[in-house]
Amino acid sequence: MSTRSRVAAVRERFGDLDSLLVTSLPNIRYLTGFTGSNAMVLITRRKAVLFTDPRYTLQSVAETAGSGVEARTVKGPLELTVVKKLKGLRKVGFESGTIGYASWEHFAKAAPLEPSKGLVETLRMVKSEDEIAAIRASVDTNSQAFAAAIGRFRFGMSELDLAAEIDYQMRLLGAEKPAFETIVAFKANSALPHARPGAAKIDRNGLLLIDMGSFRGGYASDMTRCLHLGAPAAKTRQLYRAVLEAQLAAIDAVRPGVKAGSIDKAARGTLEKHGLAKAFVHSTGHGLGLEIHETPRIGKGDKTKLASGMAITIEPGAYLRGQGGVRIEDTVLVTPTGVEILTPTPKQLTIL
Ligand code: ZN
Ligand code: ZN
Repeated sequence: MSTRSRVAAVRERFGDLDSLLVTSLPNIRYLTGFTGSNAMVLITRRKAVLFTDPRYTLQSVAETAGSGVEARTVKGPLELTVVKKLKGLRKVGFESGTIGYASWEHFAKAAPLEPSKGLVETLRMVKSEDEIAAIRASVDTNSQAFAAAIGRFRFGMSELDLAAEIDYQMRLLGAEKPAFETIVAFKANSALPHARPGAAKIDRNGLLLIDMGSFRGGYASDMTRCLHLGAPAAKTRQLYRAVLEAQLAAIDAVRPGVKAGSIDKAARGTLEKHGLAKAFVHSTGHGLGLEIHETPRIGKGDKTKLASGMAITIEPGAYLRGQGGVRIEDTVLVTPTGVEILTPTPKQLTIL
């Protein structure tokens, strides 16, 4: 879908709105192509205008070309200009998930507002061919960065050293930046699903969990792999096998028309069978694209139906205090007939 048809698709979803005020920057990028850090877009039945500040005059005109959105530079706070433009509108949809209370109050004085959370996000769930190509490139870059960083691993490096190496390799390979703070968690830290890398030295014996993602061409990738320093104990191998089995079962369940919740059930059911139900403390996955976390959420009871063109992660995990944690995560694509695993990195437990 081109940016021009995206604006048209938004209008088709207006319902009884006569306009939509877009304040989420990823939504603005999706609809207009604009990549700057300060903008608001007002879409009415007849027109779509992007307001930005003088730092972005040239960039906004260049990036929005062909989107059907007119770029306009304003001086001073964007809100003041937008408030003026809202006057006379009958029912303005606004992005209730991203707008602050003070801004809402300001806008609400100018025109009747109606929360329209998720209007653009729903469109963003199914990716175009160009977006899928961008996600593929991002995933490949991310996996190459992982391989390069592991190749440079030395015993005694800290979690932070390895995280820095990963981020450095990503950028050398063409990523703009990490898609989130890279997680490198050794031994007991690996039992914390969202650990921050610290000064802990990665030396002998223990699980090493790495969760990393890149932004390339604006699109995110996301992967988790576990390695082991020294020979793993039998119970660690068992834990790893159980999580891998859950991950494969969830991937196997992915196809168009299936509810997101049933993918989660496939992973959760497998871990339950291994007595690890309580050790799996998060959802099975999430959509990704211009943001690292997008709808659909691949979580318990989620009724969103998967559709061809959705890019999602599959990342079950099991976390045992004292022993460590295992998570295995791939970025996958829902295809017309099932699923394609985009992440090329092998999934056996690598021993360092
Ligand atoms: Zn993820
Ligand atoms: Zn991840």
